[in-house]
Amino acid sequence: MEHLFSDRVKKLKASEIREILKLTQRPEIISFAGGLPAPEMFPVEAYKAMSIKVMDEMGREAMQYSTTEGYDPLREKIAKRMQASGVRVSKEDLLITNGSQQGLDFTGKIFINPGDYVLCESPSYLGAINAFRAYECEFKEVETDSEGMVMDALKEAIDQHPKAKYIYVIPDFQNPSGRTWSESRRKELVELANQYNLIIIEDNPYGELRYEGEAIPPVKAFDTEGRVVYLGTFSKTFSPGLRIGWVCASPLLLNKYITVKQGADLQASSMSQRVLNAFLENYDFDAHIRAIINVYHKRRDLMFSEMKKHFPQNAKYEISKGGLFAWVELPEHVDARELMKLAVSNKVAFVPGGSFFPNGGKENYMRLNFSNMPEPKIVEGIERLGKILSKEI
Ligand code: PMP
Repeated sequence: MEHLFSDRVKKLKASEIREILKLTQRPEIISFAGGLPAPEMFPVEAYKAMSIKVMDEMGREAMQYSTTEGYDPLREKIAKRMQASGVRVSKEDLLITNGSQQGLDFTGKIFINPGDYVLCESPSYLGAINAFRAYECEFKEVETDSEGMVMDALKEAIDQHPKAKYIYVIPDFQNPSGRTWSESRRKELVELANQYNLIIIEDNPYGELRYEGEAIPPVKAFDTEGRVVYLGTFSKTFSPGLRIGWVCASPLLLNKYITVKQGADLQASSMSQRVLNAFLENYDFDAHIRAIINVYHKRRDLMFSEMKKHFPQNAKYEISKGGLFAWVELPEHVDARELMKLAVSNKVAFVPGGSFFPNGGKENYMRLNFSNMPEPKIVEGIERLGKILSKEI
């Protein structure tokens, strides 16, 4: 049946992380591979109580079709939270999606013609790379430093790739690098996009999970011409299983996302949106996020201090100030995919960094997640990894 598939689909590859995750679901493996939140932090009892409340108070409405844009009280609450982070926004600027991953897919659908270029950080989020690739784009990776994309490199990339449509960035605690953009870089990014008439896609699942320092306003807060599309999600602050995220954009752009959402799946779950809204109304969401931060902060500190103890000197990393990941650079000759095989046979797992570079060629990185494993397993797992690294590199 091969010939029946579209050219687009023939080019698709399964996400390497998903394949690895299957392997690491074995209980004996200490896995730093997935980007999974800590399940013990999911508000299961509260969700149960709010589900009953929603069914009692508006069961028929919750089980019915509803608008594509999303449930108004939830959109209002998201708008308020975004306003608090410095973005001028009202509920009309928001579309509720099935996680921010759906926003990424729609982005590809809306902007990419085959052969168009996407400008992205090097490295970038694998899930976005795969979502965009389905629309047959090419990628231009732009060099980053500890403040974000290097603006001269971005300028050069834009000049070299006139068919670029948008710049995709994860400015807060990036997946996979853990890095955060400075405020001045965020402003410069908007200025460049204005100058070259490009769209910015700002993907921000981790911004609220900061363990040190002051919050920096999103790029969207500096948007002067309505060209920043902001993607948010409750996956890391509430539950990824819920599949609730949102797109925030100016009317011209948001209308395209709404039209595409209609064609894709009509709307996000009426039920999930109402239960989440009831949670936000009846519980202290900020206190809930603080509780998550408290746990992840400790796990982050522990992972980095254990890495310092057990990893060889030539494994290099910066301490992530938030988010879920540690990103480790190994000497250039080391192939992390090979290391991964050794690691799994020693019952510890990570994600080899190669697939976060859309154009390939960089295999000497590892991404380690610190949110999911309890503390004793972080200690044990990093010690095991340290032994492998010390022997192999
Ligand atoms: N963007 C980034 C950078 C991510 O790391 C993730 C989740 N791993 C997503 C988007 C997708 O998240 P969700 O669809 O669960 O909101």
